Amino acid sequence: MNHLHDRALGALYGLAMGDALGMPTQIMPRRSIVARFGTVTGFEPGPAENPVSAGMPAGAVTDDTDQAVLVGRLLVEGDGHIDPLRLAQELLEWERAMKAKGSFDLLGPSTKAALEAVSRGVPPEEAGRSGSTNGAAMRITPVGVAFPDKPLESFVDQVAAACRVTHDTTLGIASAAAVAAAVSRGVGGGGLEDAFAAAITAAAAGAERGHWVYGASIAARIEWAVELVRGLPEERALDRVNDLVGTSVASQESVPAAFAVLALADGEPWRACLLAANLGGDCDTIGAIAGAIAGSLSGASALPTEALTTLRSVNGLDLEPLATSLLELRAAAAG
Ligand SMILES: [Mg+2]
Repeated sequence: MNHLHDRALGALYGLAMGDALGMPTQIMPRRSIVARFGTVTGFEPGPAENPVSAGMPAGAVTDDTDQAVLVGRLLVEGDGHIDPLRLAQELLEWERAMKAKGSFDLLGPSTKAALEAVSRGVPPEEAGRSGSTNGAAMRITPVGVAFPDKPLESFVDQVAAACRVTHDTTLGIASAAAVAAAVSRGVGGGGLEDAFAAAITAAAAGAERGHWVYGASIAARIEWAVELVRGLPEERALDRVNDLVGTSVASQESVPAAFAVLALADGEPWRACLLAANLGGDCDTIGAIAGAIAGSLSGASALPTEALTTLRSVNGLDLEPLATSLLELRAAAAG
């Protein structure tokens, strides 16, 4: 396997790994995780007391992986272009299928509001005008695999297009641009500090797009969160992320939190995903973002073999063809 393919695959499986490790502890407070698990050290089934993940088997992924794969498939089918109406329809279809399975892991607040608007006949370019939570960032990874992060403005165009129908806002686009740029830099062969720099630059550019919504700067908060945890012992660092950065679905909390755990783990994928799982809050999404970036930096060959086997067998995941197709788009985009 060549390096590019290994890194593209690492991004996709890293995302799934962080998502599945965070599944059992999502929406739990950190103190409850400590009481229930001590420290999460691997895949766990959804515990009975978790209203979203109760009954899910160890290693099961959630909406983060499902929707990222969906975005990837639409990108490939559209030859690098996502049709916003089609994305809306497919997300609604996905939620119907999840409800039919009895799942409680459904659409997030921005996506749900936007898709309800589309269903009422609001045009797709208006539907996402207030979406500012982390749903676009959680599913943007395939865009980072499919496009080089330079030139910056055309890269941010691609990110903004994928955000349009649900998260057409300064915060939504900035947070998705940060994640996509870090992944793209990783796939392109960069290291952890390159990924941080690319994320901060792209977040600043993304904040110039979409409808303005109030909220702290994603770029500034990523830079701050990474510095906040440097040199701290792990437990203390996780407490700081929990108390200061925040782990909510707000983009300006969970996205900088993902960069903080990446810094804390020094970019090591399994470690970063476990740190996220122990945070609680929206930790499946924090883990999915951190895992995607870490996986793009290290490649799938650096992910634990047993974890990959679990992810494939529990979820029926086969991400190799998607990685190949996204890299074909990347080759075409690079000319
Ligand atoms: Mg999720």
